[in-house]
Amino acid sequence: MSKPFGPLPPEFADQTGALTIAGRPAADWTADHGSPLFVYDPTIVATRVAGFRAAFPSIDLHYAIKANPWPPFLAAVAPLVDGLDVASAGELATALTVKPAKAISFAGPGKRDAELEAAITAGSTLNVESAGEARRALAIGERIGVTPRLAVRVNPDMELKGSGMKMGGRPSPFGIDAEHAAAVVREIVAAGADWRGFHIFAGSQALDTQAIIDTQAATLALAARLAEEAGAQPLLVNLGGGFGIPYFPGDTPVDIARIGDALAQALAGRPDILANSRFAIELGRWLVGECGVYLARIVDRKESRGETFLVVDGGLHHQLAASGNFGTVVRRNYPVAIAHCMNAEPEETVSIVGCLCTPLDRLADRVALPRAEVGDIVAIFLAGAYGLTASPAGFLGHPAPSEVLGRAS
Ligand SMILES: *Cc1c(COP(=O)(O)O)cnc(C)c1O
Repeated sequence: MSKPFGPLPPEFADQTGALTIAGRPAADWTADHGSPLFVYDPTIVATRVAGFRAAFPSIDLHYAIKANPWPPFLAAVAPLVDGLDVASAGELATALTVKPAKAISFAGPGKRDAELEAAITAGSTLNVESAGEARRALAIGERIGVTPRLAVRVNPDMELKGSGMKMGGRPSPFGIDAEHAAAVVREIVAAGADWRGFHIFAGSQALDTQAIIDTQAATLALAARLAEEAGAQPLLVNLGGGFGIPYFPGDTPVDIARIGDALAQALAGRPDILANSRFAIELGRWLVGECGVYLARIVDRKESRGETFLVVDGGLHHQLAASGNFGTVVRRNYPVAIAHCMNAEPEETVSIVGCLCTPLDRLADRVALPRAEVGDIVAIFLAGAYGLTASPAGFLGHPAPSEVLGRAS
């Protein structure tokens, strides 16, 4: 009795024979760069961006770089998007190497004074998460003689239904409660800072198209209400994002054309106070999740009391999310394949485990796959977002994997 695994991204789902990533067989990538290995295909990101542009012709596209901040990758993605959203001074420094400061916004709780100062000095936007943070930013701006660019992140009074990670409608370290946001805007404006607008992020990994449409409409209404209350027109309303990708059996993609149509309609009828505002959507996994494949080599094949284990040279220290230990309640299987025989008939039920000495390190649980031997390469898909930098790389002292940017040759 095998368990199902999630759907492969469209670029890989119909392949037969050897898995090809960015135009090259997986085995060529591992021959050149070793294993374990993350391979990212930037043309897949470009395809997602083109889809976004078609669906949302008047909306700015921001990339939330925490999804995948690897500098060569970021350098490839940055020219495709209008802005970068960062969440630490480290990410800010990386982002500044590939994008003008004005196209970068910095959100996230617990920004230290040095981080606030770095953003103000650079001329990037700070999305303030509390009244206290706004005041610290204003004081730093005054001290160094630079007018800070400040947006108010709002903890909305609604949540994104059906999202994997809910971030609104409840007490939160993120954002200023909607009921207090207008007062902070007035304080920022009165202090003479450059008030940029609102940042309203209601959740992540949403696959329910209608829920996203409803949340965007509610976000727009909330931004208008707060702007009225504050008596100020926002230059930019960052509507959040939260578009999910199918990871697990039964998951289906979001319908961005429908979301785009609904948003265009909502914007056409928007309140006057937002008449001159720009709007942005910030995305991480939807843009980059599907472009990455994690390749690991089978080191051992063993039977134990009726279960077959393929033990690979990678594991959760590189790709925590595939082990079910990154923000999921029930462990389910990521899409997986034996790299030299895509879409071959399944011959056996195996569990794919990593090389860490912990039972948590299970990358695929009792999946039906073609027979694989020691030395063969296993491919785990959806490794483009929340892969290496979202994994405990130091745990158990194994070597770091390589990362490579696929380029059409
Ligand atoms: C993490 C994060 C994102 C990106 O989320 P995805 O699910 O990867 O799209 C966007 N905005 C904010 C504020 C975030 O914290």
